[in-house]
Amino acid sequence: MVDLRSQYERYRADIDNAISGVISSTAFIRGPAVRQFEEELQRYLGISHVISCANGTDALQIAMMALGLRPGDEVITTNFTFIATVEVIGLLGLTPVLVEPDPGTFNISIEAVRKAITSRTKAIVPVHLFGQCADMEPLLALANEHGIHVIEDAAQATGAEYRFSDGTVKKAGTMGIIGCTSFFPSKNLGCFGDGGALFTADDELAALIRSITNHGMKIRYYHDHIGVNSRLDTLQAAVLSVKLRHLDAFNESRQRAAAHYDRELAELEGITVPLRSERSTHIFHQYTLRVAGGKRDSLRECLENEGIPSMIYYPVPLHMQKAYAHLGYSPDDLPVTSMLSGEVLSLPMHTELDDEQLSYITGCIRSEYK
Ligand SMILES: *Cc1c(COP(=O)(O)O)cnc(C)c1O
Repeated sequence: MVDLRSQYERYRADIDNAISGVISSTAFIRGPAVRQFEEELQRYLGISHVISCANGTDALQIAMMALGLRPGDEVITTNFTFIATVEVIGLLGLTPVLVEPDPGTFNISIEAVRKAITSRTKAIVPVHLFGQCADMEPLLALANEHGIHVIEDAAQATGAEYRFSDGTVKKAGTMGIIGCTSFFPSKNLGCFGDGGALFTADDELAALIRSITNHGMKIRYYHDHIGVNSRLDTLQAAVLSVKLRHLDAFNESRQRAAAHYDRELAELEGITVPLRSERSTHIFHQYTLRVAGGKRDSLRECLENEGIPSMIYYPVPLHMQKAYAHLGYSPDDLPVTSMLSGEVLSLPMHTELDDEQLSYITGCIRSEYK
């Protein structure tokens, strides 16, 4: 599904150099490369604060802690996402309210959010799934109208851009009060282990987030808040600085691969290629088909027989996960998600796919559909 090795080989000299620089300095925790990377990412995103942390899941948790969310508060999020989003809501004793995605873009349905808002709703967490931004303009308007925070989960969309109706363009993660991302190795901007970050334009909130990531202290051993230990390793920051320079090129490679898939697969009866939102670029963290007519699993098997990996993101909707049975959803409560879970199939997607590989994959699918 991903080819991290070939990408590393291309930038090996720069990356090895960056890593050995950190090792020589022995500044492993909060070394200068961490602040340097944060500043580079600030410039890239066009936002005043980037605060790095240990992973994307922590970023979401820290965002909710910084906003002072309390047990009993409801947080609306999409039912069709990676578990991290809902996990931290549960960990903090908040109440997750799961809503349907739009079956076209796979992103949270604004209408579904509107219907789910109550007097206890304190935050909405849109996830920019598979590399394309959720429809932020109507979502932000809705949240503003009700005085609700918007925390963006941009873990799959670092570098994607959303265009507002007045022409303003903003990067994923810079539109809500706080944006969160992950630098897990396979993400569009990935490091060589775990990493994550929060983005905000709010100075006070940024200071609070920074303090929470470091045991709730500003001055060493004076703890003003209950915090966590969640820091980006200096080694990872050094790797990320090298890779950030190539992020736009990485995302373009993914878009080229997606265009190849589109060309070969769009006309096949029963296959729906990823819908492009009019407002967002798509940077293809995943290239995800919908396969109708109950043929998804047999197609997956055919691919497997030809040595082609594919994945189902996500096979079980959140409302059907055992750990969240206490929320009391029944299977039919969120039928769009259940339908998608039965139809989606993600094809190999990374920066190193060449035409030969892509043609081999699409040829295999086309021969199934002849
Ligand atoms: C990867 C991911 C996360 C979590 O990031 P980690 O760094 O693995 O903790 C959160 N949300 C979404 C949508 C993700 O894809």
